[in-house]
Amino acid sequence: MQQEELVFVGICDLAGLVRGKGFPASELESRLRQGVGLTGSNIMISAFGTIFSSPFGTEGDLVMMPEATTAVQLPFDEGAAEHFYLADIRELDGRPWACCPRDFLRRALTALAAETGLVVKSAFEQEFVHSGIEERPGDAYSLSSFRRQGTFGESLIGTLRAAGITPDSFLPEYGPRQFEVVVKPTFGLRAADEAVITREMIRSVAERMGFRASLAPIMAPDGIGNGTHLHFSLWQEDGTPAMHDAAAPFGIAPRVAPFIAGVLHHLPAPSAVTASSVASYFRLQPNRWAPVWAFLGQQDRGAALRVCPIFPGAADAAERQFNLEYRVADAAACPYLALGAIVWAGLDGMRKKMTLPPELPAFWSMDEAARAAAGVRTLPRSLGEALDLLEATDEARDWFGPKFLSAYLEFKRSEIAALDTLEPSDICDRYAAIY
Ligand code: GLU
Ligand code: MG
Repeated sequence: MQQEELVFVGICDLAGLVRGKGFPASELESRLRQGVGLTGSNIMISAFGTIFSSPFGTEGDLVMMPEATTAVQLPFDEGAAEHFYLADIRELDGRPWACCPRDFLRRALTALAAETGLVVKSAFEQEFVHSGIEERPGDAYSLSSFRRQGTFGESLIGTLRAAGITPDSFLPEYGPRQFEVVVKPTFGLRAADEAVITREMIRSVAERMGFRASLAPIMAPDGIGNGTHLHFSLWQEDGTPAMHDAAAPFGIAPRVAPFIAGVLHHLPAPSAVTASSVASYFRLQPNRWAPVWAFLGQQDRGAALRVCPIFPGAADAAERQFNLEYRVADAAACPYLALGAIVWAGLDGMRKKMTLPPELPAFWSMDEAARAAAGVRTLPRSLGEALDLLEATDEARDWFGPKFLSAYLEFKRSEIAALDTLEPSDICDRYAAIY
Protein backbone atom coordinates (compact mmCIF):
# COMPACT_ATOMS: atom_id res chain seq x y z
CA MET A 1 0.00 0.00 0.00
CA GLN A 2 1.32 3.44 -0.89
CA GLN A 3 1.02 5.86 2.01
CA GLU A 4 1.83 9.48 2.48
CA GLU A 5 1.86 11.41 5.75
CA LEU A 6 -0.97 13.88 6.28
CA VAL A 7 -1.16 17.00 8.43
CA PHE A 8 -4.43 18.26 9.88
CA VAL A 9 -5.19 21.92 10.57
CA GLY A 10 -8.18 22.61 12.75
CA ILE A 11 -10.01 25.12 14.88
CA CYS A 12 -11.65 24.49 18.23
CA ASP A 13 -15.15 25.63 17.41
CA LEU A 14 -18.19 26.92 19.28
CA ALA A 15 -19.08 23.35 20.26
CA GLY A 16 -15.59 22.95 21.74
CA LEU A 17 -14.70 20.36 19.08
CA VAL A 18 -11.71 20.43 16.75
CA ARG A 19 -12.71 20.43 13.10
CA GLY A 20 -10.59 21.16 10.08
CA LYS A 21 -8.90 19.66 7.04
CA GLY A 22 -5.86 17.59 6.14
CA PHE A 23 -3.21 17.88 3.42
CA PRO A 24 0.01 16.09 2.42
CA ALA A 25 2.83 16.76 4.87
CA SER A 26 5.09 17.66 1.94
CA GLU A 27 3.04 20.87 1.57
CA LEU A 28 3.36 21.93 5.19
CA GLU A 29 5.69 24.84 4.59
CA SER A 30 3.44 26.48 2.03
CA ARG A 31 0.32 25.73 4.08
CA LEU A 32 1.83 27.44 7.11
CA ARG A 33 1.97 30.61 4.98
CA GLN A 34 -1.16 30.18 2.90
CA GLY A 35 -3.47 28.49 5.40
CA VAL A 36 -6.44 26.25 4.65
CA GLY A 37 -9.82 27.45 3.39
CA LEU A 38 -13.01 27.53 5.47
CA THR A 39 -16.44 29.14 5.28
CA GLY A 40 -18.37 31.02 7.99
CA SER A 41 -20.98 28.31 8.46
CA ASN A 42 -18.25 25.84 9.47
CA ILE A 43 -18.29 27.50 12.88
CA MET A 44 -22.05 26.79 13.12
CA ILE A 45 -21.67 23.00 12.90
CA SER A 46 -23.45 21.83 16.03
CA ALA A 47 -21.99 19.34 18.46
CA PHE A 48 -24.26 16.77 16.80
CA GLY A 49 -22.77 17.39 13.37
CA THR A 50 -25.74 19.17 11.78
CA ILE A 51 -25.89 22.89 11.02
CA PHE A 52 -29.27 23.72 12.56
CA SER A 53 -29.09 27.41 11.80
CA SER A 54 -26.47 29.81 10.43
CA PRO A 55 -26.30 33.54 9.80
CA PHE A 56 -23.55 32.93 7.23
CA GLY A 57 -25.42 30.75 4.75
CA THR A 58 -23.29 29.10 2.10
CA GLU A 59 -21.36 32.18 1.04
CA GLY A 60 -17.96 33.55 1.92
CA ASP A 61 -14.42 32.30 2.25
CA LEU A 62 -12.14 32.44 5.24
CA VAL A 63 -8.80 30.90 6.02
CA MET A 64 -7.56 28.75 8.90
CA MET A 65 -4.04 29.98 9.63
CA PRO A 66 -2.09 27.31 11.51
CA GLU A 67 -0.30 28.56 14.62
CA ALA A 68 3.23 27.14 14.50
CA THR A 69 3.55 26.88 18.30
CA THR A 70 0.58 24.48 18.47
CA ALA A 71 2.25 21.83 16.31
CA VAL A 72 1.71 18.30 17.57
CA GLN A 73 3.72 15.62 15.79
CA LEU A 74 3.66 12.23 17.46
CA PRO A 75 4.37 8.93 15.83
CA PHE A 76 2.45 6.06 17.43
CA ASP A 77 3.57 2.44 17.25
CA GLU A 78 0.44 1.50 15.35
CA GLY A 79 -1.66 3.56 12.97
CA ALA A 80 -1.11 7.04 11.62
CA ALA A 81 0.87 9.66 13.49
CA GLU A 82 -0.87 12.54 15.23
CA HIS A 83 0.28 15.52 13.21
CA PHE A 84 -1.88 18.57 13.59
CA TYR A 85 -1.95 22.33 14.14
CA LEU A 86 -4.53 24.56 15.77
CA ALA A 87 -5.46 27.63 13.81
CA ASP A 88 -6.86 31.14 13.87
CA ILE A 89 -9.72 31.96 11.53
CA ARG A 90 -8.86 34.95 9.38
CA GLU A 91 -10.42 36.91 6.56
CA LEU A 92 -8.66 36.37 3.23
CA ASP A 93 -6.87 39.73 3.70
CA GLY A 94 -5.34 38.49 6.96
CA ARG A 95 -7.56 40.34 9.46
CA PRO A 96 -8.92 38.18 12.28
CA TRP A 97 -12.43 36.93 11.52
CA ALA A 98 -15.00 38.50 13.88
CA CYS A 99 -16.14 35.04 15.07
CA CYS A 100 -12.73 33.44 15.65
CA PRO A 101 -12.78 31.83 19.13
CA ARG A 102 -8.99 31.98 19.48
CA ASP A 103 -9.04 35.67 18.65
CA PHE A 104 -11.76 36.23 21.30
CA LEU A 105 -9.21 35.14 23.90
CA ARG A 106 -6.32 36.96 22.23
CA ARG A 107 -8.29 40.23 22.25
CA ALA A 108 -9.14 39.78 25.93
CA LEU A 109 -5.50 39.09 26.90
CA THR A 110 -4.24 41.99 24.78
CA ALA A 111 -6.73 44.41 26.32
CA LEU A 112 -5.88 43.21 29.84
CA ALA A 113 -2.14 43.67 29.28
CA ALA A 114 -2.59 47.07 27.63
CA GLU A 115 -4.91 48.46 30.30
CA THR A 116 -3.48 46.88 33.46
CA GLY A 117 -0.02 45.49 32.67
CA LEU A 118 -1.23 42.06 33.83
CA VAL A 119 -0.91 38.68 32.14
CA VAL A 120 -2.76 35.45 32.89
CA LYS A 121 -1.26 32.09 33.78
CA SER A 122 -3.71 29.20 33.72
CA ALA A 123 -4.25 25.48 33.51
CA PHE A 124 -7.28 23.32 32.78
CA GLU A 125 -7.96 20.19 34.85
CA GLN A 126 -9.95 17.76 32.78
CA GLU A 127 -12.17 14.95 34.07
CA PHE A 128 -13.45 12.14 31.87
CA VAL A 129 -15.00 8.68 31.98
CA HIS A 130 -13.02 5.63 30.80
CA SER A 131 -15.30 3.23 28.90
CA GLY A 132 -12.84 0.35 29.06
CA ILE A 133 -12.74 -0.61 32.72
CA GLU A 134 -15.25 -2.40 34.87
CA GLU A 135 -17.22 -0.23 37.25
CA ARG A 136 -16.75 -1.41 40.84
CA PRO A 137 -18.45 -0.03 43.91
CA GLY A 138 -16.10 1.85 46.18
CA ASP A 139 -13.71 2.73 43.39
CA ALA A 140 -13.63 6.49 44.04
CA TYR A 141 -9.99 7.64 44.09
CA SER A 142 -8.93 4.02 44.65
CA LEU A 143 -5.58 2.43 43.91
CA SER A 144 -7.56 -0.47 42.45
CA SER A 145 -9.13 1.80 39.85
CA PHE A 146 -5.77 3.45 39.19
CA ARG A 147 -4.23 0.00 38.64
CA ARG A 148 -7.02 -1.35 36.48
CA GLN A 149 -6.68 1.42 33.92
CA GLY A 150 -3.40 -0.32 33.09
CA THR A 151 -0.97 1.65 30.96
CA PHE A 152 -3.47 4.27 29.80
CA GLY A 153 -2.35 6.85 32.39
CA GLU A 154 1.33 6.32 31.60
CA SER A 155 0.65 6.51 27.87
CA LEU A 156 -1.38 9.68 28.27
CA ILE A 157 1.25 11.39 30.42
CA GLY A 158 4.02 10.35 28.01
CA THR A 159 1.96 11.55 25.04
CA LEU A 160 1.26 14.92 26.63
CA ARG A 161 4.93 15.46 27.38
CA ALA A 162 5.87 14.50 23.84
CA ALA A 163 3.26 17.00 22.63
CA GLY A 164 5.11 19.77 24.51
CA ILE A 165 2.79 19.92 27.51
CA THR A 166 4.05 19.53 31.09
CA PRO A 167 1.80 17.08 32.95
CA ASP A 168 1.04 17.57 36.62
CA SER A 169 -1.03 14.57 37.68
CA PHE A 170 -3.29 11.69 36.66
CA LEU A 171 -5.82 10.31 39.12
CA PRO A 172 -8.87 8.15 39.56
CA GLU A 173 -11.75 10.51 40.35
CA TYR A 174 -14.87 10.27 42.48
CA GLY A 175 -17.33 9.11 39.78
CA PRO A 176 -17.60 5.57 38.38
CA ARG A 177 -14.76 4.91 35.88
CA GLN A 178 -13.88 8.59 36.14
CA PHE A 179 -10.31 9.88 35.81
CA GLU A 180 -8.67 13.26 35.65
CA VAL A 181 -5.54 14.67 34.08
CA VAL A 182 -3.95 17.92 35.22
CA VAL A 183 -1.24 19.90 33.45
CA LYS A 184 1.05 22.64 34.73
CA PRO A 185 -0.08 26.23 34.27
CA THR A 186 1.23 28.31 31.42
CA PHE A 187 0.88 31.90 30.19
CA GLY A 188 -1.57 33.46 27.76
CA LEU A 189 -3.17 31.78 24.76
CA ARG A 190 -0.93 28.75 25.14
CA ALA A 191 -2.94 27.52 28.16
CA ALA A 192 -6.09 27.24 26.05
CA ASP A 193 -4.13 25.65 23.18
CA GLU A 194 -2.87 23.08 25.70
CA ALA A 195 -6.40 22.43 26.95
CA VAL A 196 -7.51 21.64 23.40
CA ILE A 197 -4.46 19.46 22.72
CA THR A 198 -4.88 17.64 26.06
CA ARG A 199 -8.50 16.76 25.27
CA GLU A 200 -7.50 15.44 21.89
CA MET A 201 -4.70 13.38 23.42
CA ILE A 202 -7.07 11.90 26.03
CA ARG A 203 -9.35 10.79 23.19
CA SER A 204 -6.53 9.71 20.92
CA VAL A 205 -4.70 7.55 23.44
CA ALA A 206 -7.98 5.95 24.58
CA GLU A 207 -9.03 5.15 21.01
CA ARG A 208 -5.62 3.77 20.12
CA MET A 209 -5.90 1.49 23.17
CA GLY A 210 -9.33 0.31 22.07
CA PHE A 211 -11.75 2.19 24.33
CA ARG A 212 -13.38 5.59 24.57
CA ALA A 213 -12.74 8.41 26.98
CA SER A 214 -15.78 10.66 27.29
CA LEU A 215 -15.36 14.20 28.51
CA ALA A 216 -19.11 14.89 28.30
CA PRO A 217 -20.36 17.16 31.12
CA ILE A 218 -22.24 14.29 32.76
CA MET A 219 -23.02 10.71 31.74
CA ALA A 220 -26.48 10.45 33.38
CA PRO A 221 -28.72 13.17 34.84
CA ASP A 222 -28.22 12.05 38.43
CA GLY A 223 -24.58 11.03 37.98
CA ILE A 224 -21.26 12.68 38.78
CA GLY A 225 -20.13 15.33 36.34
CA ASN A 226 -16.93 15.69 34.38
CA GLY A 227 -15.75 19.15 35.26
CA THR A 228 -13.07 21.16 33.49
CA HIS A 229 -11.70 23.30 36.29
CA LEU A 230 -9.84 26.36 35.19
CA HIS A 231 -7.01 27.46 37.50
CA PHE A 232 -5.72 30.96 36.92
CA SER A 233 -3.44 33.59 38.40
CA LEU A 234 -2.38 37.09 37.40
CA TRP A 235 1.20 38.17 36.89
CA GLN A 236 3.07 41.27 35.83
CA GLU A 237 4.38 41.21 32.31
CA ASP A 238 7.94 40.88 33.63
CA GLY A 239 7.03 37.55 35.26
CA THR A 240 6.51 38.83 38.83
CA PRO A 241 3.48 37.24 40.53
CA ALA A 242 0.76 39.83 41.19
CA MET A 243 -2.09 37.90 42.76
CA HIS A 244 -1.14 37.15 46.36
CA ASP A 245 -1.09 39.21 49.54
CA ALA A 246 -1.30 37.08 52.67
CA ALA A 247 -2.70 39.98 54.70
CA ALA A 248 -5.52 40.87 52.27
CA PRO A 249 -9.05 39.36 52.27
CA PHE A 250 -9.01 35.93 50.59
CA GLY A 251 -5.22 36.41 50.24
CA ILE A 252 -5.95 38.30 47.00
CA ALA A 253 -3.68 41.30 46.42
CA PRO A 254 -5.65 44.61 46.38
CA ARG A 255 -4.30 45.41 42.90
CA VAL A 256 -5.96 42.35 41.33
CA ALA A 257 -9.00 42.10 43.64
CA PRO A 258 -11.13 44.10 41.13
CA PHE A 259 -10.40 41.43 38.50
CA ILE A 260 -11.79 38.69 40.75
CA ALA A 261 -14.67 40.96 41.72
CA GLY A 262 -15.45 41.39 38.01
CA VAL A 263 -15.56 37.63 37.42
CA LEU A 264 -17.88 37.25 40.43
CA HIS A 265 -20.02 40.20 39.38
CA HIS A 266 -20.62 38.77 35.92
CA LEU A 267 -20.56 35.16 36.97
CA PRO A 268 -23.98 33.84 36.07
CA ALA A 269 -23.58 35.10 32.47
CA PRO A 270 -20.21 33.53 31.53
CA SER A 271 -21.79 30.14 32.33
CA ALA A 272 -23.37 30.40 28.88
CA VAL A 273 -19.84 30.05 27.50
CA THR A 274 -18.12 27.89 30.12
CA ALA A 275 -20.99 25.46 30.81
CA SER A 276 -22.24 25.63 27.28
CA SER A 277 -24.33 22.51 26.70
CA VAL A 278 -27.81 21.48 27.78
CA ALA A 279 -26.27 18.64 29.82
CA SER A 280 -23.90 21.05 31.60
CA TYR A 281 -26.80 22.06 33.83
CA PHE A 282 -27.37 18.49 35.01
CA ARG A 283 -23.83 18.70 36.36
CA LEU A 284 -24.34 22.02 38.16
CA GLN A 285 -26.53 20.48 40.87
CA PRO A 286 -26.09 20.28 44.66
CA ASN A 287 -23.95 17.66 46.39
CA ARG A 288 -21.68 16.68 43.49
CA TRP A 289 -18.68 18.92 44.15
CA ALA A 290 -19.93 21.02 41.30
CA PRO A 291 -20.94 24.63 41.97
CA VAL A 292 -24.51 25.83 42.32
CA TRP A 293 -23.89 29.25 43.86
CA ALA A 294 -21.90 32.08 42.29
CA PHE A 295 -19.64 32.70 45.27
CA LEU A 296 -15.97 33.01 46.05
CA GLY A 297 -14.95 30.39 48.61
CA GLN A 298 -11.76 29.97 50.56
CA GLN A 299 -10.59 26.43 49.71
CA ASP A 300 -14.19 25.33 49.10
CA ARG A 301 -14.95 22.85 46.30
CA GLY A 302 -18.62 23.85 46.38
CA ALA A 303 -17.76 27.39 45.34
CA ALA A 304 -17.91 28.67 41.78
CA LEU A 305 -14.60 30.42 42.36
CA ARG A 306 -12.31 28.67 44.79
CA VAL A 307 -9.23 30.15 46.41
CA CYS A 308 -6.75 27.28 46.15
CA PRO A 309 -4.43 26.28 48.98
CA ILE A 310 -0.76 27.14 49.27
CA PHE A 311 1.47 24.16 50.03
CA PRO A 312 4.29 25.14 52.40
CA GLY A 313 6.53 22.29 51.20
CA ALA A 314 6.33 23.22 47.51
CA ALA A 315 9.40 24.43 45.64
CA ASP A 316 7.57 27.59 44.54
CA ALA A 317 7.07 30.44 47.00
CA ALA A 318 3.49 31.17 48.14
CA GLU A 319 2.98 34.07 45.73
CA ARG A 320 4.01 31.89 42.77
CA GLN A 321 1.66 29.06 43.79
CA PHE A 322 -1.37 31.18 44.60
CA ASN A 323 -4.24 30.72 42.15
CA LEU A 324 -8.00 30.63 41.90
CA GLU A 325 -10.07 27.85 40.41
CA TYR A 326 -13.11 28.58 38.25
CA ARG A 327 -15.35 25.49 38.56
CA VAL A 328 -18.32 26.36 36.34
CA ALA A 329 -16.78 24.81 33.23
CA ASP A 330 -16.84 21.53 31.36
CA ALA A 331 -15.53 20.07 28.11
CA ALA A 332 -18.48 21.19 26.01
CA ALA A 333 -16.89 24.63 26.29
CA CYS A 334 -14.36 25.91 23.81
CA PRO A 335 -11.29 26.68 26.00
CA TYR A 336 -10.61 29.93 24.12
CA LEU A 337 -14.12 31.17 24.86
CA ALA A 338 -14.09 29.90 28.44
CA LEU A 339 -10.80 31.53 29.41
CA GLY A 340 -11.65 34.57 27.29
CA ALA A 341 -14.98 35.10 29.10
CA ILE A 342 -13.20 35.01 32.47
CA VAL A 343 -10.57 37.50 31.31
CA TRP A 344 -13.15 39.85 29.81
CA ALA A 345 -15.27 39.73 32.97
CA GLY A 346 -12.18 40.30 35.15
CA LEU A 347 -11.01 43.19 32.99
CA ASP A 348 -14.46 44.78 33.35
CA GLY A 349 -13.98 44.56 37.12
CA MET A 350 -10.61 46.33 36.78
CA ARG A 351 -12.10 49.00 34.53
CA LYS A 352 -14.93 49.67 36.99
CA LYS A 353 -12.78 49.25 40.11
CA MET A 354 -15.16 46.63 41.49
CA THR A 355 -14.68 45.42 45.05
CA LEU A 356 -14.75 41.92 46.48
CA PRO A 357 -17.66 40.86 48.69
CA PRO A 358 -16.86 39.96 52.31
CA GLU A 359 -15.69 36.44 53.07
CA LEU A 360 -18.56 34.11 54.00
CA PRO A 361 -16.87 31.43 56.13
CA ALA A 362 -20.27 30.16 57.30
CA PHE A 363 -21.71 29.93 53.78
CA TRP A 364 -22.95 26.34 54.09
CA SER A 365 -24.79 27.01 57.34
CA MET A 366 -26.59 30.05 55.89
CA ASP A 367 -30.09 29.51 54.53
CA GLU A 368 -31.04 30.60 51.01
CA ALA A 369 -32.47 33.91 52.23
CA ALA A 370 -29.26 34.73 54.11
CA ARG A 371 -27.19 33.86 51.04
CA ALA A 372 -29.35 36.06 48.87
CA ALA A 373 -29.13 38.87 51.46
CA ALA A 374 -25.33 38.57 51.26
CA GLY A 375 -25.63 39.17 47.52
CA VAL A 376 -24.87 35.60 46.45
CA ARG A 377 -26.71 34.53 43.31
CA THR A 378 -27.43 31.01 42.15
CA LEU A 379 -25.93 29.85 38.89
CA PRO A 380 -28.34 29.48 35.96
CA ARG A 381 -30.42 26.31 36.02
CA SER A 382 -30.39 25.77 32.29
CA LEU A 383 -28.43 26.73 29.20
CA GLY A 384 -31.40 28.80 28.03
CA GLU A 385 -31.33 30.84 31.24
CA ALA A 386 -27.57 31.31 30.92
CA LEU A 387 -27.89 32.51 27.31
CA ASP A 388 -30.58 35.02 28.32
CA LEU A 389 -28.24 36.36 31.02
CA LEU A 390 -25.39 36.62 28.52
CA GLU A 391 -27.62 38.46 26.04
CA ALA A 392 -28.71 40.86 28.80
CA THR A 393 -25.06 41.64 29.69
CA ASP A 394 -24.30 44.91 27.89
CA GLU A 395 -20.55 44.44 28.18
CA ALA A 396 -20.74 41.06 26.41
CA ARG A 397 -21.52 42.88 23.16
CA ASP A 398 -18.09 44.50 23.37
CA TRP A 399 -16.33 41.32 24.43
CA PHE A 400 -17.66 39.33 21.50
CA GLY A 401 -18.59 42.07 19.07
CA PRO A 402 -22.24 42.11 17.90
CA LYS A 403 -21.80 39.68 15.01
CA PHE A 404 -20.09 37.01 17.12
CA LEU A 405 -22.46 37.38 20.06
CA SER A 406 -25.55 36.97 17.92
CA ALA A 407 -24.01 33.98 16.07
CA TYR A 408 -23.13 32.36 19.42
CA LEU A 409 -26.63 32.88 20.83
CA GLU A 410 -28.19 31.52 17.62
CA PHE A 411 -25.85 28.53 17.66
CA LYS A 412 -26.59 27.58 21.25
CA ARG A 413 -30.32 28.23 21.05
CA SER A 414 -30.57 25.95 18.04
CA GLU A 415 -28.77 23.25 20.08
CA ILE A 416 -31.38 23.60 22.83
CA ALA A 417 -34.21 23.39 20.28
CA ALA A 418 -32.73 20.25 18.72
CA LEU A 419 -32.91 18.46 22.09
CA ASP A 420 -36.28 19.86 23.09
CA THR A 421 -38.28 16.64 22.96
CA LEU A 422 -35.66 14.41 24.57
CA GLU A 423 -35.60 13.13 28.15
CA PRO A 424 -32.62 14.18 30.32
CA SER A 425 -31.05 10.70 30.11
CA ASP A 426 -31.26 10.73 26.30
CA ILE A 427 -29.71 14.20 26.28
CA CYS A 428 -26.79 12.90 28.38
CA ASP A 429 -26.38 9.98 25.97
CA ARG A 430 -26.26 12.33 23.00
CA TYR A 431 -23.46 14.39 24.53
CA ALA A 432 -21.62 11.33 25.89
CA ALA A 433 -21.44 9.92 22.35
CA ILE A 434 -19.76 13.10 21.10
CA TYR A 435 -17.50 14.47 23.79
N1 GLU B 1 -16.46 16.07 39.30
C1 GLU B 1 -16.66 17.33 39.97
C2 GLU B 1 -17.22 18.34 38.96
O1 GLU B 1 -18.05 18.02 38.22
C3 GLU B 1 -15.43 17.87 40.61
C4 GLU B 1 -14.66 17.00 41.53
C5 GLU B 1 -13.39 17.69 42.00
O2 GLU B 1 -13.46 18.59 42.83
O3 GLU B 1 -12.33 17.42 41.45
O4 GLU B 1 -16.84 19.47 38.89
MG1 MG C 1 -11.36 16.64 39.91
